[in-house]
Amino acid sequence: MFDYLIVGAGFAGSVLAERLANGSNKKILICDKRPHIGGNAFDFYNDEGVLIHKYGPHIFHTNSKDVFDYLSKFTEWRNYEHRVLASVDGMLVPMPINLDTINKLYGLNLTAFEVEDFLASVAEPCDEIKTSEDVVVSKVGRELYEKFFRNYTRKQWGLDPSELDASVTSRVPTRTTRDDRYFTDSYQAMPKHGYTRMFEKMLDHPNIKVLLNCDYEEISKDIPFRELIYTGPIDAFFNYRYGKLPYRSLEFKHETHDTEQFQTAPVVNYPNEQAFTRITEFKYLTGQEHKKTSIVYEYPQAEGDPYYPVPRKENAELYAKYKTLADARSDVRFVGRLATYRYYNMDQIVAQALTEYGKMVGKKRQEAAIAKAVGSNGNGSTATMQTLTKTPLS
Ligand SMILES: Cc1cc2nc3c(=O)[nH]c(=O)nc-3n(C[C@H](O)[C@H](O)[C@H](O)COP(=O)(O)OP(=O)(O)OC[C@H]3O[C@@H](n4cnc5c(N)ncnc54)[C@H](O)[C@@H]3O)c2cc1C
Repeated sequence: MFDYLIVGAGFAGSVLAERLANGSNKKILICDKRPHIGGNAFDFYNDEGVLIHKYGPHIFHTNSKDVFDYLSKFTEWRNYEHRVLASVDGMLVPMPINLDTINKLYGLNLTAFEVEDFLASVAEPCDEIKTSEDVVVSKVGRELYEKFFRNYTRKQWGLDPSELDASVTSRVPTRTTRDDRYFTDSYQAMPKHGYTRMFEKMLDHPNIKVLLNCDYEEISKDIPFRELIYTGPIDAFFNYRYGKLPYRSLEFKHETHDTEQFQTAPVVNYPNEQAFTRITEFKYLTGQEHKKTSIVYEYPQAEGDPYYPVPRKENAELYAKYKTLADARSDVRFVGRLATYRYYNMDQIVAQALTEYGKMVGKKRQEAAIAKAVGSNGNGSTATMQTLTKTPLS
């Protein structure tokens, strides 16, 4: 008898599996319908031997020391500060918009103080900031909005920024300095040997069995367990009773080129002409040295794997109905990005899972992250992760 059946072997499921096994000596079966662990953070060496991220670039950054310390038990890190260029008016300029972006784009030589005045002169003040368009236009004006944001957002979300919550574009700052880092978090690093290796270490415990290529519905009636932890889409769990929650999906087009370097930055955004939104070159992220290089194009689309919950008021209302159903299920815990219908970064999901474990054992998140079961023998170093696979679903 398993104590827990955990649905989904991404960050949410794997952190909980690790904590329950290592911290509480529970017996866990974790299943995933995909043929691999790691959820969307899964990476692997392609046929040419280049380490790539199957589901698009995943860059780790956090301000949370306890999340970073927790993950550090399963990986060493490689310092990495992410940088992005945007292809606008035939030039490659830093993104988020900074002093160099403005100077290069307009052929100016402004100082940090002067660029502040420049932005203030083009910004269009707005009484109440409601939409993603309001956020940007009120900060950088309509021209920069149209060059960098409008079409990018339309491609990414299939909606005009005026139809999207302010939260989408407020994630992107504007800087008057030359700082061209994409993130400013205190911890910015990539797992030294990749995400999948880190997940393998997390799940490497004699109490954890991993079942891949397996939808939980195929086994939940036959395999005995005490409690269910569900990290899949919440609407699917309730058989879409109130209809489907809208997600934005992506098609990834991976390529390997017979050259050491493809582009001059880890990510180049294409806000305007192209159908894809960005190109990522993985070697910048992973630090791998290889005579070939692998890249991925991202084409946003409506259908496909659920990646981004669409942040609109009516979707939040629909989610609230599912949440009411979920709250009434004392036998199931709903954790993770899909089960809570919100775009979360990896560190936020680790924090959410550690908080959930804390609730289960009556501890605060920081303590829950380090608790170790008395008498447990799983130390992540000697046992081999036990993986069972089923035939892929047709
Ligand atoms: C393109 C893209 C880029 C991103 N880049 C970043 C980034 O740079 N930095 C960052 O911090 N975050 C990034 N994220 C967010 C990051 O992917 C998530 O925060 C993280 O993957 C969430 O983990 P999770 O466990 O909640 O969900 P997931 O990783 O989605 O894992 C859920 C798992 O559940 C499985 N599952 C679902 N239903 C079932 C079922 N019925 N039976 C069995 N298994 C099931 C799925 O197959 C999946 O593997 C990005 C996301 C996307 C889509």
